Amino acid sequence: MLNQRTLAKTVTVTGLGLHSGKRVTMHMHPTDANTGICFQRVDLPHRPILKADATTVGATENNTTLGSGIEAVHTVEHLLSVFYGLGIDNVLCEIDGPEVPIMDGSGASFVFLLKETGIQTLNKSKQFIVVLEPVEVKVEDKWARLEPASRLIIDSTIVFAHPVIKTQNKVFEFSCENFISEISRARTFGLLRDVDMLKRKGLIKGGSLDNAIVLNDFQVMNNDGLRFRDEFVRHKILDTIGDISLLGHEIAGKVTTYKSGHNLHNLLCRKLMETPSAYELVSASSLEKEAVEAFELPQVMAPSFH
Ligand SMILES: [Zn+2]
Repeated sequence: MLNQRTLAKTVTVTGLGLHSGKRVTMHMHPTDANTGICFQRVDLPHRPILKADATTVGATENNTTLGSGIEAVHTVEHLLSVFYGLGIDNVLCEIDGPEVPIMDGSGASFVFLLKETGIQTLNKSKQFIVVLEPVEVKVEDKWARLEPASRLIIDSTIVFAHPVIKTQNKVFEFSCENFISEISRARTFGLLRDVDMLKRKGLIKGGSLDNAIVLNDFQVMNNDGLRFRDEFVRHKILDTIGDISLLGHEIAGKVTTYKSGHNLHNLLCRKLMETPSAYELVSASSLEKEAVEAFELPQVMAPSFH
């Protein structure tokens, strides 16, 4: 039996939005089983609630946005990735601004915070989306595919015309432990030559060397360099996990991506949902042992029972 998880108690985090540059405060509350991950804009008079779901995704340019217009919540992908990575299914995030704080550009701060907060097991089984047949989406030379596998595997390839990045590939077999050690610390990245263009579009107003890897035409500009030699593709895997977690359940399947971004990840989720023959929803108890064992947490994070 592998049960759903929530937080042991409410926790608060404050930080800058990467794109808006606005300081936001987010309270994350434990919630009941089967309620999912929800965001509530408490700065707006009618306090709208948006459920983290592939079909509520609006914009996907440079970040994943839930909803649209004034009610939108931007840059949810790193936090969602950490929730998936720690097997947390149900949380209400009350936020007083339009964007989840970027922290250090990775998921590491959220992992640390949730480790301190504690994780609670709920009295309901996790549900897995088991992929039964391949689905694929393609945009120009970029593509993403989901196919059957006994547990979540991500095979990601990125290609950048930059001497530090070039082509990077990584195959990641999901487990909570592997997520924490191999993926959660990988930071978002950007090229200095794109900064002006992004700022003109109203993006990355809060961006700095404190919350992204920044590259000039030759090298990494951050004083401390990289956290991993292939930090870039690891970050792509962090993003991919956050984006496909919007399917709303744990996933047993292999995701292969080539030059993908938030848009392609969302199209892949929607394509799967639109293809009923390609998946089934099953209780964790009917899955292979390795898919369930992947959700064991390190001893220091062992969940309490409700
Ligand atoms: Zn990212």
